[in-house]
Amino acid sequence: MLSKRRTPGATAGRPYREMNRRMDLGSERAGMRRLRYGCAGLILACCCLVLLFAEFSFAASEPIQYLLDFREPASHLARVVMTVAGASPSTELQFPAWNNLYQIRDFARNIQELAADCDGAQEQLTRVDLNTWRSEAKPCAKLALRYAVYVAGSPPFSSALDSQHAFLNFATLLFYLPKERGRAAHVKLLIPAEWKVATLLEEEGDGFFAPNYDILADSPAEAGQFQDYSFSQNGATYRVVVHADVKDYSPDRLLASLRKITATETALMRDVPFSRYTFILHFPREDGGGGMEHRNGTAITVRAAQLRDHWETLEAVAAHEFFHLWNVKRIRPQSLEPIDYVHGNDTRDLWFCEGVTSAYGELALLRAGLISRKTFYARLGSAIATLQSRPARFFQSVEESGLEAWLEKYNDYLRPERSISYYNKGELLGFLLDLALRHASGNGAGLDDVMRRLNEDFGRPGRYYTDADLRRLIAQVAPRFSGLEAFFADYVRGTRELDYDTYLGYAGLERESESRGSARLGFDVSVNPGGEVRVESVELRRAAEQAGLAQGDILLKMNGQAWRDSPANLLSLLKPGQEMKLEVQRGGRVFEIEYRLEANEEATCRVKEIAHPSPEQIQVREGWLKGETTPAGGGKQ
Ligand SMILES: [Zn+2]
Repeated sequence: MLSKRRTPGATAGRPYREMNRRMDLGSERAGMRRLRYGCAGLILACCCLVLLFAEFSFAASEPIQYLLDFREPASHLARVVMTVAGASPSTELQFPAWNNLYQIRDFARNIQELAADCDGAQEQLTRVDLNTWRSEAKPCAKLALRYAVYVAGSPPFSSALDSQHAFLNFATLLFYLPKERGRAAHVKLLIPAEWKVATLLEEEGDGFFAPNYDILADSPAEAGQFQDYSFSQNGATYRVVVHADVKDYSPDRLLASLRKITATETALMRDVPFSRYTFILHFPREDGGGGMEHRNGTAITVRAAQLRDHWETLEAVAAHEFFHLWNVKRIRPQSLEPIDYVHGNDTRDLWFCEGVTSAYGELALLRAGLISRKTFYARLGSAIATLQSRPARFFQSVEESGLEAWLEKYNDYLRPERSISYYNKGELLGFLLDLALRHASGNGAGLDDVMRRLNEDFGRPGRYYTDADLRRLIAQVAPRFSGLEAFFADYVRGTRELDYDTYLGYAGLERESESRGSARLGFDVSVNPGGEVRVESVELRRAAEQAGLAQGDILLKMNGQAWRDSPANLLSLLKPGQEMKLEVQRGGRVFEIEYRLEANEEATCRVKEIAHPSPEQIQVREGWLKGETTPAGGGKQ
């Protein structure tokens, strides 16, 4: 996926050393100028040297100033001035290539009219590479960068700017200093008079303060005429900012749903690690959708029509994103740090960061009473069916699926024959691991305990965990779970088929796969405008592939009939077990392929409770679904 990863400059301690080097240089030059005044001026010069040193030291630690002008929103252009006090000679300025989504999106493509000045005089910037510029080899008391950014994306992943509102992902708008990413920033927004602003940052003076660039890039903002709600819970304030037509949703229902989610998840984690958390919600009439987690908030987009017909979509996204405030934002894998805004980060941990977060999203909805047990089982069955319908599960591990997240922007990568989803398999692994821990410990401990311990040991102290830390901690929480290493080897790093029956059996659950009598064609086609039918993909280890059908083959006839229909229409006519005779053209050759249609066994999967569970099975099931454990002496915890 990514070419060689370079370590960005913001490693601990590095910005401080850079600052010292620059201060020395600055004071040296200042001193040389003053020595020309001769010996009589020496004492004065020394005093000046000390004063200048102090002045430069102060300038270099001054926050970087960002002034963003959105007062012509219809142009989609944001005008930006970035001012760096005490800039060192040859200061590097870098623009991120990604943020939020694990996808290189080349934000530099939207920069235009870039210019700079040093203490009022024009400054020549050198382009180092696609994302990096360098100032001239002389220090600047004030280095100012001016440019415009074309802003025409949509929330929650990109920035948006139009006559209605602005949604700001600052990594798509603002440069950083690679060697001083730890430096504080002050952001001032100029917006149309009738607009207001909501951000995840703290207000300071006439703008907002960010302790460093990473926090700035993790703190989106909304500007416009949004609806603004709030509620208090367990000592924290929850702000709910909505950009939508108020006719498209019920504020009462919205706040009731969010209250239940935040109450359930903070109770689960026994933690409220913020004083303010902000939901930035968009319910557009047009297309769009998704959720993005941030340390102290989230941005969620759900189409208004979806909201009307499927309110539970919003609840599911909110439950997932809110749990991220721990899992990935505070409980953070070492592999995601330090963030490499240019090349991306190689990580094998997304199955845990995303998949286990999805598992908790589902469990939270159930525990909050927002979905029924029946719905929970139905969604679990559908998650199983999703994984089992993807042949790529035979060769792509869930760990590798996370490592290859960066390829998800390519549609061909998303084919069921090429990739599985770390959300999907990670969620199932979260459930299976929880059941295994509860089974091994007589419901004495579960995944909830693992999450709380991760929060205690890594989240709160601000340490990053490794895969080895995770396994060590699970072993401490449930020492009697002897299958831990095999679980990771087989299911996380490996591609062994998940043994659903055993794990679900721990909770007295079973699954039923229903074929519904449908046939499995075993390949996918496209029809070009001339009517030519081309095989786009062939399912691995299925009858069509084993009979010799290959991607790129042109299909001429099926069972003697000219082929001119899509597989979806054909499938309704075909029956499992039926003979298929395909006339195929490959290169200049025409030949026949014969195989027998298989049944679509994993078309659906139902999870249900067995008729006569043992007391142990009931204990595990109730503990899992309610988020309770049974201490050694009995009773509930
Ligand atoms: Zn997520």
